[in-house]
Amino acid sequence: MLELNEEKGELKTFFVDVILPLAISKTYTYRVPQSLNEQVAVGKRVVVQFGKSRIYTAIIYHISENPPKLYEAKYVIDVLDESPVVNQHQLKLWEWISAYYMCHLGEVMQAALPSALKLASETRVVLLKDAVYDKKDFNDKEFLIIDALEIQPELKVSDIVKLLGQKSVFRLLKSLFDKGVIHISEEVVERYKPKQVAYITLHSFYADADNRKALFNVLERSPKQLDILLAYLKLSRSSPYVGKKEILEESGSGNGPLKALIDKEIFVVENRVVSRLKEGDYEHLKEFTLSEEQEQTLEGIKKLFEEKDVVLLHGITSSGKTQVYIRLIEECITSGRQVLYLLPEIALTTQIIERLREYFGSKIGIYHSRLGDNERAEVWTKVLNNEYNVVLGARSAVFLPFTGLGLIVVDEEHESSYKQYDPAPRYHARDTAIYAGRLHEAKVLLGSATPSLESYFNSKTGKYGFAELRQRYGESNLPAIKVVGIAEETSKKTIQSHFTSVLIDGIKEALEKKEQVILFQNRRGYTPLLICKTCGYIPQCIHCDVSLTYHKSTGKLHCHYCGYKQDTVPVCPACGSTHIEQKGFGTEKIEDDLQFIFPEARIARMDLDTTRSKNSFQRILNDFEERRIDVLVGTQIVAKGLDFDHVTLIGIINADSLLNYPDFRAFERSFQLLSQVGGRAGRRGKPGTVIIQAYSTNHRVIQQVIEHDYEDLFRVEIAERKSFRYPPLYRMIRIDVKHKDSHALSAVANRLGQELKKALGERVLGPEDPLVGRIRNFFIKTLYIKVERDGIAISKVKEFLRGLLLNFETDKQNKGTLIQVDVDPY
Ligand code: ADP
Ligand code: ZN
Ligand code: ZN
Repeated sequence: MLELNEEKGELKTFFVDVILPLAISKTYTYRVPQSLNEQVAVGKRVVVQFGKSRIYTAIIYHISENPPKLYEAKYVIDVLDESPVVNQHQLKLWEWISAYYMCHLGEVMQAALPSALKLASETRVVLLKDAVYDKKDFNDKEFLIIDALEIQPELKVSDIVKLLGQKSVFRLLKSLFDKGVIHISEEVVERYKPKQVAYITLHSFYADADNRKALFNVLERSPKQLDILLAYLKLSRSSPYVGKKEILEESGSGNGPLKALIDKEIFVVENRVVSRLKEGDYEHLKEFTLSEEQEQTLEGIKKLFEEKDVVLLHGITSSGKTQVYIRLIEECITSGRQVLYLLPEIALTTQIIERLREYFGSKIGIYHSRLGDNERAEVWTKVLNNEYNVVLGARSAVFLPFTGLGLIVVDEEHESSYKQYDPAPRYHARDTAIYAGRLHEAKVLLGSATPSLESYFNSKTGKYGFAELRQRYGESNLPAIKVVGIAEETSKKTIQSHFTSVLIDGIKEALEKKEQVILFQNRRGYTPLLICKTCGYIPQCIHCDVSLTYHKSTGKLHCHYCGYKQDTVPVCPACGSTHIEQKGFGTEKIEDDLQFIFPEARIARMDLDTTRSKNSFQRILNDFEERRIDVLVGTQIVAKGLDFDHVTLIGIINADSLLNYPDFRAFERSFQLLSQVGGRAGRRGKPGTVIIQAYSTNHRVIQQVIEHDYEDLFRVEIAERKSFRYPPLYRMIRIDVKHKDSHALSAVANRLGQELKKALGERVLGPEDPLVGRIRNFFIKTLYIKVERDGIAISKVKEFLRGLLLNFETDKQNKGTLIQVDVDPY
């Protein structure tokens, strides 16, 4: 961009508008030092000072020659990149998200960029553990930084600024980062550990027939070692990789003789990262032919894509949706364009990654929150350089810097984890992907066995195309679903703790056959409620308006909203009574009570409490997969996207707690969850059973689940949503008003409600008390705006709301108020 002002023969002065990673409503303008004129370009990162002393990396949004009118522009401190890290498509997507979801561009940037690309004063810099470097390769300043890090393992960027006595340290850090010497992070993330297995091979010396013969002669005198050698030779005929475990099993011998052979270097041990897929799966994956139905559906989708940009594929579990995706992905790659394949976070830890890797090789990128910061930055750069054909990712993968997308697959499109609740941007990845598709002129395929009402509705009205798979692939049958009345068994006294006799018999049978069981309960902890039988006192969180849950593992009462913990109350603090009753039950109690009934069974639990550390999640999955666990008790987490070969029974402890959840989507969600859970059972040949325990056994949703009648669910739900003015028939915006003072809150919320009603009338509901009226010491009131699909443009409503809220925030009367807007709350 070096340009001379022709007449005067002087260099031009440029100004750049930048996006800062902050919740501020404007972009800021900085002046470009002439020495950097050549380097500025839209989408590159610059280092700027904002406020008194804070330093940020910002993204260049516009370049002009106009200085800002209201303030004197500070100078850009440095330009970090040789080429843009954010492209035009992305900036357009950010603009759309900011407008549609009513948030700031800086918030979108914050969510979009991996933290390693987003240095700020508070960012921490760590020396990489196994970094190999020669200090001769560093310049003086880099040398100083490394020197300091060798003494103190972690430094903040602001510390380094002080150390060097200069503001522009980011370029130095970037260089050290690129050299693989340092790690840059906002938090320390545990890495996903691939699975490793110890393999045995015969030392290459014995590849020679004579040497091998000699070996046999020597081992004649150690018959046990000879057995092991024979076992190895037998196993190595069918597979090049022989595991330690298999040899021991095959030879029936103990570890001693094997160790002796290893010590004598006859055997060589090699730790290899292994795939979590079974051997046999590879072949049929590499070479598969679609079934007749799959073939027809594939052709149907391609035909629909000629006219529609978005197609919904409604295919029951195990119908081979993934197989159809693979064919479409292949075609897209062949045409030279990129593919984005979105999955819910949890499904990404399982087989699907390897299934596709096996299929598409190394040109597939993976992007999810279990990656470390550096790995995320690495994937970002590779996408930017077009090094991947396919990217498989969770929600945030829609932000990657694609240059030419041809296809976006959104698998399990109904999953609520596609919606980001907090913080802003409160975006839905499916809907964002559809917009991204439009920017790239890419086709979007939404897939689900239980579509969201939104997408099904859109396909019925012709906005999306619609395709179906109605048969399970191959032999596998849909699981049998049994509904058991809790009330009946209670009166017959056949219920034990929370388990009906039907469920207990089912578990017993599965255990006898050495098959596995999954039990689902949607509350964690031990007992969600303690209540004093004498005076009715209930222990509550001191920061939130919720009762505390007793956790046996910690022996404490926990708040599930803010994390507050306190000692349990053996004596009622209100009346001194010791009659404290425990009400309800969570996963911990299910696990405990079940162990009492089946003392021999190996039971494990998977919920937020047992999976907080990322490796523990993987460990439970591995243990379950390798059958070191017989029964897995868990919350929603067990219902999503996990496939296990030997699970034949799935028990829902209490379906009523799902159905009665106070949310307009409760029935839709229950249907999805109960149907999806069923899909987990008996996936590969073995027939599965689902046992649903419920009080309301005749509930229409339970009947719809039994009959796999999605159509009926859709018909009834749509009618209800219509009469109560809910999505997908109406658009909805939720406004949470928060304040530390409950009186001030009521006043502000009422004023806001009145202003809204003046303009929008009946479309405004509230202010009302949300389910939990106080969280982390902030009282909350909620307002809803429900807007009909035709008649008034939603963009107009948002424009009005934006203006109103801006006035509201600057009005002194409303000091201390926080307002959060959620468009399309989920
Ligand atoms: P969905 O995604 O619809 O739940 P999957 O694509 O996972 O179903 O298919 C279920 C199982 O059936 C998988 O193990 C898959 O490999 C197998 N399968 C489906 N279609 C085929 C096919 N055409 N050839 C070989 N195996 C298939
Ligand atoms: Zn009491
Ligand atoms: Zn709390």
